[in-house]
Amino acid sequence: MKIHEYQGKEILRQFGVPTPRGNACFSVDEAVATAQQLGGSTWVVKAQIHAGGRGKGGGVKVAKSIEEVRNAAQQILGMHLVTHQTGKEGQVVHRLLIEEGAQIAKEFYLGMVIDRSKQRVALLASSEGGMEIEQVAARSPEKIHTVRIDPVAGLNAEDSARAAQVIGIPASATSDAVAVLQGLYRAFVEKDAMLAEINPLVLTADGRVLALDAKFNFDSNALYRHPEIIAMRDLDEEDPAEVEASKFDLSYISLDGDIGCLVNGAGLAMATMDIIKLYGGSPANFLDVGGGADKEKVTEAFKLMLRNPNLKAILVNIFGGIMKCDVIAEGVVAAARDVHLGVPLVVRLEGTNVERGKKILAESGLPIISGNDMADAAQKAVAAAKGSR
Ligand code: ADP
Ligand code: MG
Repeated sequence: MKIHEYQGKEILRQFGVPTPRGNACFSVDEAVATAQQLGGSTWVVKAQIHAGGRGKGGGVKVAKSIEEVRNAAQQILGMHLVTHQTGKEGQVVHRLLIEEGAQIAKEFYLGMVIDRSKQRVALLASSEGGMEIEQVAARSPEKIHTVRIDPVAGLNAEDSARAAQVIGIPASATSDAVAVLQGLYRAFVEKDAMLAEINPLVLTADGRVLALDAKFNFDSNALYRHPEIIAMRDLDEEDPAEVEASKFDLSYISLDGDIGCLVNGAGLAMATMDIIKLYGGSPANFLDVGGGADKEKVTEAFKLMLRNPNLKAILVNIFGGIMKCDVIAEGVVAAARDVHLGVPLVVRLEGTNVERGKKILAESGLPIISGNDMADAAQKAVAAAKGSR
């Protein structure tokens, strides 16, 4: 689960990481009032969306007067902010962060992720702050300093100080940087994060260390023990189909292709998407209905897929193990009747009671295209999607 920058900064402050003073605002008037309260002579008006690259997309503006704060807030609120992480339609901005402007002497990168192969949290630190870390990693990996943190000992002061020194934080600010690194690590562990990023961490003109951006991604399996994180959820930022899917306990991810996939089991769902690609098609979604899908769940799954205006065909690929093919076939037939299918439906069934399942499909009178095996079904789905284009 992702949160906004201003929420991330609240967490950072709780763990002793200094950030500029600022507040979230939902209107232009609120933005102006907040800037007046903060005082000073430079403010930054920042779009709050769950995607990075806002600066380049025009979602971060420095204002030198209250009038400029007003203008920037007017421009940014309600805009469709397009960044390399949003897709071409962009994300509508509903919230702003108004904060004091910092005098930046140098920008650094700090990030923490879980390194599964090493079973540790990895700290990534770089002198190349403000940039996309993926590009730094690709072009000059030597500029990323990595520390894999012992989960028992935690992030110690020596490793923190060395990381600060390697990326070029001056000796006078080392102890502040150590506090930032250790605070970030404690926040990461205590809040069950999967990713935490401060990009940029800056050295100010007067020698202080300050987090100017904050990004967190939390492990959804651990949210049950963090009501304070769940309270930060902003459904405006999430795909409506995915929000709906989570209500029915369906694993659903929207993709940009045109063939809807309804599959039982995450592994089979991945394989189904692969084989669609292999035959020149493109999946519209990942959808795992799970092991115990009943008629209601299958119907909801169909409804979800049909919300997608790009949908050109549906491929149902079921392996009946514990779940029986005849039960699934009944579910598919009932759902197809319920939702008024407007696109071709290809079904491939295999496993327990497969013959009974196929009979139910054949006798349903619905124009269901039957696939003999995965390859056959995928090819038929790709052809059907091309045909209905
Ligand atoms: P994003 O990563 O989405 O582009 P950031 O919060 O990192 O957004 O802001 C982009 C850039 O704007 C930063 O790299 C920094 O140079 C500048 N910036 C952000 N916040 C401030 C601030 N409070 N004071 C001065 N400059 C800022
Ligand atoms: Mg940033």
